[in-house]
Amino acid sequence: MASANRYDAIVIGGGHNGLVAAAYLAKAGARVVVCEARHKTGGAAATDQPWPEHPEFKVTTLSYVMSLMPDRIIRDLDLERHGYRVHPVGPYVVPFDDGRVMIDWEDNAKNYEEFAKFSKADAEALERWDQWIGGLAAVLGPLLMTTPPQVGSKRPSDLFEQLRLAWRFRGLDVRTVGDVTRLMTMSIADLLDRFFVSEQVRAVMAINGLIGTWAGPYEPGTGYVMAHHSIGDVGDGTLGSWGVPEGGMGAVAAAIESSARASGAEIRTNAGVERVLIRDGRAVGVALAGGEELSAPIVITACHPKITFLRQIAPGDLPGDFVRDVELLSSRSGVVKINLAVSRLPKLAGMPEWTDYSGGFEIAHSVDYLETAFEEARHGRAATRPFSDGVIPTTLDPSLAPEGAHVVSLFTQWVPHTWSDEPHPDELEAYADRVVDEYERVAPGFKASIVARQVIGPFEMEQGWGLIGGNIFHAELSADQLFHMRPVPGYADYRTPIAGLYQCSSATHAGGGVCGIPAYNCIREIRRDRKRRRGRS
Ligand SMILES: Cc1cc2nc3c(=O)[nH]c(=O)nc-3n(C[C@H](O)[C@H](O)[C@H](O)COP(=O)(O)OP(=O)(O)OC[C@H]3O[C@@H](n4cnc5c(N)ncnc54)[C@H](O)[C@@H]3O)c2cc1C
Repeated sequence: MASANRYDAIVIGGGHNGLVAAAYLAKAGARVVVCEARHKTGGAAATDQPWPEHPEFKVTTLSYVMSLMPDRIIRDLDLERHGYRVHPVGPYVVPFDDGRVMIDWEDNAKNYEEFAKFSKADAEALERWDQWIGGLAAVLGPLLMTTPPQVGSKRPSDLFEQLRLAWRFRGLDVRTVGDVTRLMTMSIADLLDRFFVSEQVRAVMAINGLIGTWAGPYEPGTGYVMAHHSIGDVGDGTLGSWGVPEGGMGAVAAAIESSARASGAEIRTNAGVERVLIRDGRAVGVALAGGEELSAPIVITACHPKITFLRQIAPGDLPGDFVRDVELLSSRSGVVKINLAVSRLPKLAGMPEWTDYSGGFEIAHSVDYLETAFEEARHGRAATRPFSDGVIPTTLDPSLAPEGAHVVSLFTQWVPHTWSDEPHPDELEAYADRVVDEYERVAPGFKASIVARQVIGPFEMEQGWGLIGGNIFHAELSADQLFHMRPVPGYADYRTPIAGLYQCSSATHAGGGVCGIPAYNCIREIRRDRKRRRGRS
């Protein structure tokens, strides 16, 4: 093999996690190459110009807000110098069927006033809720940067890791353990019932438990999804705060790519990996779609586990129970992303004087509304009245649209998860019409302001971005697929059954979301293995 094709490490997939892994390796002096199948890097962190007739509009195609990337990664990779900039979002606007509107602020004093309009008791309960979530975030937050132990393994090193984790939790009291247990096992609706009574407040608070989830608000486990979305901050110290990146989410990937390149990483696009090359049980390189082979003693897969372990490696090279676990990994989704170019900002029927759309613009009338939308999809029909988490990034970053115009990012749910199996173009458009109708209902004139529309369903996400099943996190964030179970039991430590082959996609621990933590943790494990090997020689 030509020496030009020999590397210290090969990364499969140039999504943000693959780029973070490459940037850390290159910074440490390794000769590293990223092989990305698409024409550009970023994966689900993308900014595009989807309308040739309106090239002046740029949309944040799939993911749309930042929160979960730790400062540590931003600093280590010097991302701000490479163009990373995030504007904290403003208040969330939630109009209801009865014409009333709730404004959900970051500021607790303002929120007290706002919640009190719907229920005095709920306004009083808010502080108790924040303390409860804050306490749980203090327990769960540090776990994100921790490699899950191999629970159940009797190997001395694994037993040591399990003890080390237990020791970290020695300070927890019975109450906190109870709270964590409730969080992991209860539905978001039932959890909220313990704090809030008003239908509107409960609907607003339920949203974070449903984002990207194939589950309605009464489904056990949605409590944890809420926590996953509430742990991060955008550097302003406020828990659960979100931000809009300047240049859309593609700019986040571009900053990481720029950092990786500055440290010497090679990034190859249109370079889909067809096979992982394995010799004597060890990964030794990859074969690209065109037949070219690259070699390296370390291969890191940053694409969906079902792509790597079911397509890029022959089943005979992997243990049968591992293959079976990967086959059964749940990555269902009912998410449809709708991006709009609009000529002006919306005007609310129930609050025409309101002009601040720098936060969310939600369609979530009640917990029952959300439940009905999911139940319809569970029974094979796209929601009649969908849920939508809307953001208008141009209120904070005008560079994405011509002056006065805006782009609207609508993260919506649910269509049947089976829609990932084949295209449903007409039903998808009809569903998108209904989402727009919901906004029209609360903001008359919204429909007429639309200049262009892009609709991306589960099938398009799987085919276009390698998001198998259309799941936004690669693997569902269900309790059976978290921590030591993510992506599958026995391999949550970023290693795989093949020596030299590591994994760091969003399906591994601390994914999903644009956070880079799986890659960060994976690189730490690679370093540990190298140290161990050096220690032995
Ligand atoms: C609609 C939507 C909205 C979301 N909203 C948010 C949000 O607002 N905030 C947030 O934090 N997160 C959000 N997420 C989740 C987040 O975007 C993902 O969890 C994250 O971007 C995944 O990053 P990754 O690097 O692990 O994988 P990906 O971004 O999926 O990257 C994997 C890469 O592997 C490549 N690949 C696949 N097959 C091959 C092959 N054979 N050879 C080489 N390369 C290959 C793919 O092309 C892709 O580029 C959203 C996701 C979606 C889909």
